[in-house]
Amino acid sequence: MKTDFLVLGSGLAGLRFALKVSDHGSVTVVTKGKIQEATTARAQGGIAAVLDPKDSFEGHIQDTLNAGEGLCHEEVVRQVIRDAPAQIKDLMQLGVQFSKDAAGHLALAKEGGHGMARVAHAQDATGAEIERALVQSCRQHPNIKIFEDHMAVDLITNRHLESKQRSPKPRCYGAYVLDIKTQEIKTFQAKITLLATGGAGKVYLYTSNPDSASGDGMALAYRAGCTLTNMEFVQFHPTCLYHPEAKNFLISEALRGEGGILKLLTGEPFIKRYDPRGDLATRDIVARAIDSELKKSGNPYVWLDISHKPSHFIKERFPNIYQTCLKYGIDITTSPIPVVPAAHYFCGGVATNQQGRTTLENLSACGEVAHTGLHGANRLASNSLLEAAAYACYAAQDAIQKLKESHESPNIPDWDPKGATDSNEEVVLSQNWEEIRTFMWNYVGIVRSNKRLERAQNRIKLLLDEIHEYYWNFKINKNLLELRNLSLVAHLIIQSALWRKESRGLHYNIDTPHSDPAYQKDTLAIGRP
Ligand SMILES: Cc1cc2nc3c(=O)[nH]c(=O)nc-3n(C[C@H](O)[C@H](O)[C@H](O)COP(=O)(O)OP(=O)(O)OC[C@H]3O[C@@H](n4cnc5c(N)ncnc54)[C@H](O)[C@@H]3O)c2cc1C
Repeated sequence: MKTDFLVLGSGLAGLRFALKVSDHGSVTVVTKGKIQEATTARAQGGIAAVLDPKDSFEGHIQDTLNAGEGLCHEEVVRQVIRDAPAQIKDLMQLGVQFSKDAAGHLALAKEGGHGMARVAHAQDATGAEIERALVQSCRQHPNIKIFEDHMAVDLITNRHLESKQRSPKPRCYGAYVLDIKTQEIKTFQAKITLLATGGAGKVYLYTSNPDSASGDGMALAYRAGCTLTNMEFVQFHPTCLYHPEAKNFLISEALRGEGGILKLLTGEPFIKRYDPRGDLATRDIVARAIDSELKKSGNPYVWLDISHKPSHFIKERFPNIYQTCLKYGIDITTSPIPVVPAAHYFCGGVATNQQGRTTLENLSACGEVAHTGLHGANRLASNSLLEAAAYACYAAQDAIQKLKESHESPNIPDWDPKGATDSNEEVVLSQNWEEIRTFMWNYVGIVRSNKRLERAQNRIKLLLDEIHEYYWNFKINKNLLELRNLSLVAHLIIQSALWRKESRGLHYNIDTPHSDPAYQKDTLAIGRP
């Protein structure tokens, strides 16, 4: 399969890039599940942008820098935030229907860490509305081919070529891709490849992310020799629904923005004891406050209460949350919601420049898989959809230019299974999945310590060896590939967390509880091809 642009992933970042480049060459979108299955489709709160005349770019910039605690790249913050209103306009032109107020203006919500109401939303299902519009446009475009149930296994680089065909600089030539239905490995050769595979929440036992978020893109890039940055900064969302049958259901920050209050099971509000901003403090502070109270009390959850607001308002503003909770027997108009923190968002990822280029020639990355410098040590709410939308455009503009300079394609060898046989030990996989996710939650979670990180490091070393051996002996499948990627991502998080001997933003270590100016720099993990 030969294509000009190969897009790995079909969330906001991937599909927006695909549409932007589609008039300039052939586009192939490869995605692990069905096209609409992406974290994007789960986003509830919305996209942050300065849209109210009383608001200012400087306000949004300062809120972003404050959340990022000294690690944001200020030039990136300024560029993305100034561009945000145009991004919203562009999405509306594509057909995204944002909620409007009675006067017909965009309705804007206030979220934690924001000084103003500046979050454009489509009720409480913003991501689903964005994904709907993007999927519809991509399906209609004659230059875009979509391969569902196809999973990228590895990027094709110089190491896959005969020596005389290798380019002098390390370069990406596309990807080997598993057809999940037929188990066949196909070669997708591309002039430009975009990684838009999203985050890695599944590395933790409790997460708001869908099952697809197994850090594939981060692992692919590392194995191809790319640099990854700030992998220790994992955002834990303070409020996921606590219910034995609910899997990964988030209760949006907007609920607190509209007056929701976190309470102990005694009914006492408690966040003000941790931060004067109370329930609208940034996510790291709220998540740590909940974690600390849960550890103190031994209770499995705290309450999030919005039942003091009029019932019709709750149903209209949060129809998705209202209906989902009702399904589990919780009427949020009359009762508080049981909530716990869960792994939610990766601030770190594949290092890119301001055009979305990675350190590997002809490979770009955008969306949650990438580290652009926008979020620093902590992401401000609703800045990630913005980052995905904006960087998909910057990367597309750059890719269109690059295509014009592209070289003759070399001969790419087919995938070599090297005598792998069918596995009769799938139990090894399920055991390792469970083990990694559990020790990552317990030892590398919201509150870390040197001892816990070292324990995690010892365990991941053993597991990496075991998984590596399994990978080379047996035929690959989706489960094995995800585990292989996830274990590498876990290793990178642990290494990065051990390197940072301080606490800053989302990285909190009880042995080094204060920030240290010596560590006011990005953590680098340089890939090994
Ligand atoms: C519950 C929830 C609510 C959120 N709410 C908000 C919000 O209100 N505002 C905000 O700004 N952010 C929010 N976020 C974060 C935001 O949704 C994500 O950061 C963003 O959608 C990521 O978009 P993306 O395109 O980078 O990745 P995704 O949308 O995750 O898409 C990744 C795609 O890559 C595919 N993929 C993965 N691996 C492979 C592979 N190996 N081969 C092929 N395909 C692959 C996946 O199947 C998927 O299609 C929320 C996140 C969650 C979990």
